[in-house]
Amino acid sequence: MNQNILVIGAGVAGLACAQYLIKQGCNVRLFEASNRYGGRVKPLIGFSDRHLEAGGQTIHHPDNDYYKMAIETGAKLEIGGDLVGSIYDPIQKKVISYKEFEDLYKKESQSLDDFINDRFQEDEPVLQRLQRKGYNMEFIHLFYALYGSEYGASIEKIGARAIGRYEFDMPMFVSDYEIENYIHHQNIIDKFFKEAIEIIEYNKQVISIKIINEKVQVQLNNDPNEFSFDYAICCVPVTQLKKLKVDPAFDESRLKQINLIGMDKGGKFFIKLDKKFLQHEEDFFLPKFNHNSLWWDSSSENQSIIIGLLGLSAHNRVMEIGIEQFAKEIVQTINEQYKVDLKVISYHYEDWGNTPFIEGLYSYPMSGIDDNYRQIISAPYQNRLYFAGEAYHPIYYSTIHGAYESGIKAAKEIIK
Ligand SMILES: Cc1cc2nc3c(=O)[nH]c(=O)nc-3n(C[C@H](O)[C@H](O)[C@H](O)COP(=O)(O)OP(=O)(O)OC[C@H]3O[C@@H](n4cnc5c(N)ncnc54)[C@H](O)[C@@H]3O)c2cc1C
Repeated sequence: MNQNILVIGAGVAGLACAQYLIKQGCNVRLFEASNRYGGRVKPLIGFSDRHLEAGGQTIHHPDNDYYKMAIETGAKLEIGGDLVGSIYDPIQKKVISYKEFEDLYKKESQSLDDFINDRFQEDEPVLQRLQRKGYNMEFIHLFYALYGSEYGASIEKIGARAIGRYEFDMPMFVSDYEIENYIHHQNIIDKFFKEAIEIIEYNKQVISIKIINEKVQVQLNNDPNEFSFDYAICCVPVTQLKKLKVDPAFDESRLKQINLIGMDKGGKFFIKLDKKFLQHEEDFFLPKFNHNSLWWDSSSENQSIIIGLLGLSAHNRVMEIGIEQFAKEIVQTINEQYKVDLKVISYHYEDWGNTPFIEGLYSYPMSGIDDNYRQIISAPYQNRLYFAGEAYHPIYYSTIHGAYESGIKAAKEIIK
């Protein structure tokens, strides 16, 4: 196929897309705004003797090509821990297992089922739904975890209807798989997207896209020249899509959906402790904080490490008091609620909210969004501009394998 094609963004979606097109013999250029590839996939090197990921980590489904690529790269994949192992019970003022929680607080523990049953009710923000239906808001830390951190969202904004539909659509028997040996997602990318990586042009931030006379004309932030292509595939996070100048401007219906997709600031917080905390590695534990964060244990044999996925309010707390103080505050709360005596050895905050050209965790649907919003935003524009990235996958959005599949899909659409 003798077409000139531009791929914008060298995350998993852009790399998968470019690799596929190169293999089909297309002339591909790949512009990346930053000075590295991988986007929200990034290894955290040097913090632990265990392999850690600063961004995407779990493979959320075994029945897909990305999972197969991981196996081929040598990854040893095992089913991860329970979503909630233990939770602080603010009523009894002690930590209980999730099983005990289910027995004691039936309504609160069945909130996900409730959301699924109510998936065709009028939309409203999750927080409002929880309050309206009389859930005990003492368990706000559970709701933050289920609907906030897990979705990279604010429960004040995320839509209850979309969550119910998402949970319903999820194929049964989905399990989370963790890589248990020293294979990083970066190794998978390096093995399978070799030719795409070779053609990346770094520090090229696309700022405007104009479709004219069946060509796509693109401008960069640091270059007066215009670049012309037959097709372009935009593989940037929604935070960046919202900043792009597109001519002719998107129609109202698409714009409305794009604007109702949130991507909050947040990040991943790593704390090394002086002694072992949890017995069951990878289990999530839910101390009660006044902010939105979800924690799990990721210790190796020799090191005790806990990791927190921080949503917007937790991220804001880090910005307010600083990284060191935040680490101390977290461990102090754990000590009080779990009745342990842990000390902070070291810490690291991977701040995705302030990472240029990404500026957030991952996409989520705000209250008021259309039911088929992912299809609306991923539809090719003017037959010239295509879209790929986690935000464009109709089911597996916010995931690595969703980003991968969306990249392949966009490439196939163009070739067709
Ligand atoms: C903390 C965290 C934890 C996560 N955990 C998991 C997990 O456990 N499991 C899972 O499956 N997923 C997880 N994810 C999500 C997963 O990492 C992402 O869904 C996936 O990596 C997104 O890939 P992408 O290609 O769509 O976008 P990105 O990886 O964001 O790539 C987009 C690229 O576009 C570039 N770019 C942006 N703007 C421009 C521009 N104007 N011009 C040129 N280039 C531009 C960016 O620099 C970037 O390299 C997590 C993400 C985060 C942040």
